[in-house]
Amino acid sequence: MPGYELFGEEERKQVNDVMETGIIMRYGFDGPRKGIFKSLELEKKITEVFGCKYAQLTSSGTSALTTAMVVLGIGADDEVIMPSFTFVASFEAILSVGAIPVLVDVDDTLTLNPTAVKAAITSKTKCVMPVHMCGSMADLDALKAICTEHDLILLEDACQSIGATYKGKAVGTIGDAGTFSFDFVKTITCGEGGVVMTNSEDVFIKSDGYTDHGHDHKGVDRGADLHPFIGYNYRISELHAAVGLGQISKLPLILSTQKKNNLILKSYFEQIPEITFRTIPEGGVDSYSFISWFLPSETAMRNVIAELREQGIIAGNFYWFDNNWHYIKKWHHLKNVETLNNLSVAQKSSLIKLQTQDFSASDAIISRCVSTLISLSWTDEQIHDKGTKLIAAIKKALAK
Ligand SMILES: *Cc1c(COP(=O)(O)O)cnc(C)c1O
Repeated sequence: MPGYELFGEEERKQVNDVMETGIIMRYGFDGPRKGIFKSLELEKKITEVFGCKYAQLTSSGTSALTTAMVVLGIGADDEVIMPSFTFVASFEAILSVGAIPVLVDVDDTLTLNPTAVKAAITSKTKCVMPVHMCGSMADLDALKAICTEHDLILLEDACQSIGATYKGKAVGTIGDAGTFSFDFVKTITCGEGGVVMTNSEDVFIKSDGYTDHGHDHKGVDRGADLHPFIGYNYRISELHAAVGLGQISKLPLILSTQKKNNLILKSYFEQIPEITFRTIPEGGVDSYSFISWFLPSETAMRNVIAELREQGIIAGNFYWFDNNWHYIKKWHHLKNVETLNNLSVAQKSSLIKLQTQDFSASDAIISRCVSTLISLSWTDEQIHDKGTKLIAAIKKALAK
């Protein structure tokens, strides 16, 4: 997945362009910047590469999600449906706008189970937020149908699935808004950064203002801008956008390398009859950033993990069930409402309810799953060596 493995001349040149003028802020200073607008250029590139009408860069994927929620009108005590398996940013963004995260089960797509989403809808539900984890996507047609029927917003967190498509469209461009993260370990990186993508002019104009203190960006004098609404500072810097321009120029190479390496390694996993793979929704093409695979039982998977650890080949194989960042089981700070600021009464009581909510359907999936990260820098020889060692270790553990 990580684009940082392919850092080089392209990034250096883009960053140097900015350093030549010294204008590292994206707005204003039109004289001294000498026509260099890296953030604007990257936004335009994003609309072209991913096929959306508008793109607004932000300081992170988390701030992109927060911005999208604010501009879509999600706020105090609105319920946002999100999956039990994701990254902590999902509930951080929801809580930050005053809304309530409603956690529902995932299925073997490793994303929202549409039936569980339906069951979680109440009169307070405002938004469904699928998280396209580990390079693949949620069943977007099913979720769209639910959102249309119940008049809900569909906000796609596509931070981990840059380059994946669903029925010919880039994930992140299908809902009312969608986000990517360009943090350091994502498919392409700015160092830190994110983007809100949308086909709605209204969502875009509001995102443009919200991320820069509510500035309307209509005049030439920044100091004289009007503020039609209260905003915040979620700006990206020109230096970060410059890195992103270098990276996006290599996206085709990143994706083709990812696919090649993924398919070679996957051919090894396919030799083990007990292994099954995550379901990719019909019409979906994953970004090949991970191989997510299942064993028939948690015990079998734990035996395999122990063996991989024993042999020193566990690196790059993520067992999310025991991971502190990605799964409800270990989000103790969330379930115990360990916040620094005071949440609303409704927010607090919803979080406390998570302590006793039944996530056994998610447990049954996540406890049997490992995602193997695909590196861009592997040689074919290294992949064959890795594959040989991995399947030998897995077979040994399964024979126990
Ligand atoms: C990385 C990530 C984010 C947050 O992105 P940052 O840029 O690190 O703030 C949000 N959601 C998911 C699923 C992610 O993987």
